[in-house]
Amino acid sequence: TDLSKHFPVTKGLLKRQVGAVKAVDGVSFDVMQGETLGVVGESGCGKTTTGRLITRLLEPSGGTVVFEGQDITHMSQKRLRPLRRDMQMIFQDPYSSLNPRHTVGTIVGAPFHIQGIKTEHGVKRAVQDILALVGLNPEHYNRYPHEFSGGQRQRIGIARTLALKPRLIIADEPVSALDVSIQAQVVNLLADLQEELGLTYVVIAHDLSVVRHISDRVAVMYLGKIVEIGRRKSLYTAPLHPYTNALLSAVPIPDPRGRSERERIRLQGDVPSPLNPPPACRFHTRCWKAQDVCKTVEPVLAERADGHQVACHFPENAPAVPDGVPEPTA
Ligand code: SF4
Repeated sequence: TDLSKHFPVTKGLLKRQVGAVKAVDGVSFDVMQGETLGVVGESGCGKTTTGRLITRLLEPSGGTVVFEGQDITHMSQKRLRPLRRDMQMIFQDPYSSLNPRHTVGTIVGAPFHIQGIKTEHGVKRAVQDILALVGLNPEHYNRYPHEFSGGQRQRIGIARTLALKPRLIIADEPVSALDVSIQAQVVNLLADLQEELGLTYVVIAHDLSVVRHISDRVAVMYLGKIVEIGRRKSLYTAPLHPYTNALLSAVPIPDPRGRSERERIRLQGDVPSPLNPPPACRFHTRCWKAQDVCKTVEPVLAERADGHQVACHFPENAPAVPDGVPEPTA
């Protein structure tokens, strides 16, 4: 709730603070048990920082993180340790996230010692079971990461994550480092594991196709803020924020003949610096619908349709505001 992370920018030997990079700035959302929330946006929009804040790998500058009813925002590392088993992260790069000098057995087996499985035989059996669960051969136990393809290495990373029987997994760009031909296999594996183990996911990705395949709901981030959040179907078929519309219009269509083509929207300019973001609506410097109010009044995230929220003064495809609901202006 209202989560922020500002990284101080310093100058000179005395490290005088001259500003702050507002990587995440007042982000609020919830994730229900057993669901998958996709988080999308261009690089630098704050997706990864948000994932790290949820798991307390980064300390928030403001706001709160509540996990299964417990406020963990300021919990000590000691009290947090048992909860860390329940919240695990899958990292982007299966090449650098595995220690090349350790065998698969050592990598995946390390967390089992935390679970109290101490004997070598017990750890080996537990690791082999989990390797089978992620579609690897249990005989791979004694092999090294360099002997595997990218997709297999990501499976090893997923196996390591599952060893502690987590309930919430934050997957940070889980397939972006993989060949396109392998991406679907890993995404399908994540979906199968969710069904089998009752997992809850936050999937962070810049690729809207990946998120579309696996998510129940999707949040779109721009310059440290959530600009739209809603159920997958309504967000993909009737996006409300101009930025979401532009992102979707850039998704390649394999065979455009069988589908009504969305008009391609070419965004002007680059994403502004998070050190000095534009005032009010942060998207106004690139938005083709911007009006004066967009430069002076920050639009709040407000519900426009069933469970579909947007932060925009002039949403796209917007259904009429129901009677009695004020227009989302500030
Ligand atoms: Fe564009 Fe204005 Fe909406 Fe911002 S508030 S996205 S500038 S229309």
